Amino acid sequence: MKYENIRKIVLDAILEAVDMGLVHGTSGNIALRDDTDDVIAVTPSGISYKGMTADQIAIVDLNGKWLDGPFKPSSEIPMHSAVIRARKDVKATVHTHGMFATIAAMSGELLPVTPPQTEFVPVGIVPFTMPGSNEVAERVVEALGADGRAVLIKNHGMFCCGKNMKAAMAAAIYTEEMAQTAYYAKVLGVYQPMPEEAIRKMKELIAADQAV
Ligand SMILES: [Zn+2]
Repeated sequence: MKYENIRKIVLDAILEAVDMGLVHGTSGNIALRDDTDDVIAVTPSGISYKGMTADQIAIVDLNGKWLDGPFKPSSEIPMHSAVIRARKDVKATVHTHGMFATIAAMSGELLPVTPPQTEFVPVGIVPFTMPGSNEVAERVVEALGADGRAVLIKNHGMFCCGKNMKAAMAAAIYTEEMAQTAYYAKVLGVYQPMPEEAIRKMKELIAADQAV
């Protein structure tokens, strides 16, 4: 199998996302860039992830053109490939339709409630544009900026990225958690995001790899 290494990492990540409830059915998609060949492994379109094998993960070029694999790549490949092309520091991208992130996109802001969540703010908000379009891809690139890790897409879901799959998955997991904690705290009427100064200090510690 060609590109076995990146295909296996993408498969493991999507199965983990299914196990965690971040992804249901065929929704959500994950991509990973291979440096040496300048290709991207991405989950295929419209196929259930349960029981999927690594050879079924699609391979595309950096423009999202389908190169290998039995099933066509995710229809949302324009978003993944656009972010990977725009951000040299990004190797992995995760897009989910997580319930709480989708709700948070409507509320217009997402702030951390616990220290680990601070790594992923500020979380940009992208207005609704048609899924799979070049327009949504451009808006996500713009909202992520030079160093963003997560954005919410209105009436759709979220898009996260990282220097490797572990980092991109952490962004997706903690962004959904951030949205979920904020949601329940708001429902209970006790919502208190972390103070701005604490967010800034935590981000510094995380960037310096000194967070516990
Ligand atoms: Zn989507």
